[in-house]
Amino acid sequence: MLFREFVEVCKRIRAAKGINEKIGLIASYLKRLDREEWVPYILFLTGNPVPDTLEGGLGVGHRTLVKAMKNPVRPLIGGGPPSLLEVYRTLLEIAGMRGRDSQARREGLLRSLMGRLSREEREWLASIIMGEPRIGVMTGHVLRALAHALHISEDKVRRLYMLRGSIHEVAELLARGVDPASVGPRLYKPLRPMLGTPARTVTEAFNILGVSRAAAEEKYDGFRIQIHIGDRGVRIFSRNLLDVTQSFPELVEYSSSIEAREAILDGEAVALGRDGRPLPFQYLMRRFKRVEDVEGYMDSIPVTMRLFDVIYLDGELLIDRPYIYRRERLERIVPSEYLARVVLDASLSEAEAMYREAVESGHEGIMLKRMDSPYTLGSRGRYWAKVKEKETLDLVIVGAEWGHGRRRGWLSDYYLAAYNPRTGGYEIVGKTFKGLTDEEFQYMTRRLKELVVRDEGYRVFVKPEIVVEVDFNEVQKSPKYRSGYALRLARIKRIREDKSPEEAATIDDIRRIYEEQFRRKARL
Ligand code: AMP
Repeated sequence: MLFREFVEVCKRIRAAKGINEKIGLIASYLKRLDREEWVPYILFLTGNPVPDTLEGGLGVGHRTLVKAMKNPVRPLIGGGPPSLLEVYRTLLEIAGMRGRDSQARREGLLRSLMGRLSREEREWLASIIMGEPRIGVMTGHVLRALAHALHISEDKVRRLYMLRGSIHEVAELLARGVDPASVGPRLYKPLRPMLGTPARTVTEAFNILGVSRAAAEEKYDGFRIQIHIGDRGVRIFSRNLLDVTQSFPELVEYSSSIEAREAILDGEAVALGRDGRPLPFQYLMRRFKRVEDVEGYMDSIPVTMRLFDVIYLDGELLIDRPYIYRRERLERIVPSEYLARVVLDASLSEAEAMYREAVESGHEGIMLKRMDSPYTLGSRGRYWAKVKEKETLDLVIVGAEWGHGRRRGWLSDYYLAAYNPRTGGYEIVGKTFKGLTDEEFQYMTRRLKELVVRDEGYRVFVKPEIVVEVDFNEVQKSPKYRSGYALRLARIKRIREDKSPEEAATIDDIRRIYEEQFRRKARL
């Protein structure tokens, strides 16, 4: 396929109406391509000029790109329209340039690549290089298209992505015909953790799970951690896959008491006060941000861990084993003081008692888990349900207005948005200036300024990146926003540095909460 043809394909995908039509189109072109074209096709569609695993990326900054676009050079020989593969190989060559005047050589090669493209093609290439989402296609959509094209289940492809964490590797393995079931995880490469569905009562949680008995675990208000143990020592990763080992030296030390040669464990880091009761989450976050002065903070904010799952142990991937099997394995290798408290096979009344105890001890609530549940990487399924005192929503900030009076000079009134899985976009469901401290307003202003995509003077719109946990009083129907909903009395509870925008609440969550309100209230 010529790059020119690829651009036509992109335009067609962009013009497709629904997400399903887009996925259908992506799949139909996949079938027509040579297998070796799969990798660039998939990477380019998702805004990756080179493999997403490549350290340092393409190594071309905005300035170099603009210069190359303005001054394309048409090579004397071989100046015809390049193929998709040629473009990709040239980009790989650019990324691989090292040493003296590599920057100039990168620019030179990019200019001669640009010289072989039309103006429109250059713009498309530039948007791939900048990783701009021009066609509204997300990783999940491309994974589904791969499944369709190969006539294998979406679950299998998703699982492969979850285990390897890179769209490049998935495309490459599938193009080579590797059976996804034969692929395992890699130590020290963090996996996306399993999540729970929110419930307001224990009864509702049992209904979500569809069982009458389940494991009831304490739900800690802490920081999700994934511990990797192997011959290169202990590494700790956050929920959004960052290496946070340095922030938690004591957890590294505690992990040395775990009896495993190789393991990947799932749990929560919790901050405890002097009497052993949990400290509010904000203290833990403070600890997490202060990487430079960890020692000082270690005494004032001691952190411990509560582990609740084991994903991989001494050569065996355990995600398809039932919860109860994994829990038994976990208990055999982890000292009890580091285990999450659980009542196994609990009935409704036992789980309710556990819930009251947990809240009484200062914890957030409970997680109810099906005893037979597999570990579904990165998904919020119906195997785990979380019961919290009060439901909150994780929303993404997509815009902000400049403040007045005391908040002058700060971007302080935030547009909160939920993800719409059908359009692939974020839709506003509310606005708030409540909940943050002055320090946080300043921090937010700095972050948001870096993310601006449109400046309208009194307000800006930003790239959806910052997630906040929001308290609210009610979900109302509202014509004000395109989503059709608006949160009443929204208030930011905390900035969720540990969550990525893909983990935000969806429009379906909002609708569910809206509908549920009528179980207690009358409809007009
Ligand atoms: P939420 O942040 O409200 O979406 O709740 C999910 C989070 O609860 C997980 O990501 C964990 O960080 C945390 N959590 C605390 N205790 C548990 C537990 N026993 N099992 C699973 N997750 C837990």
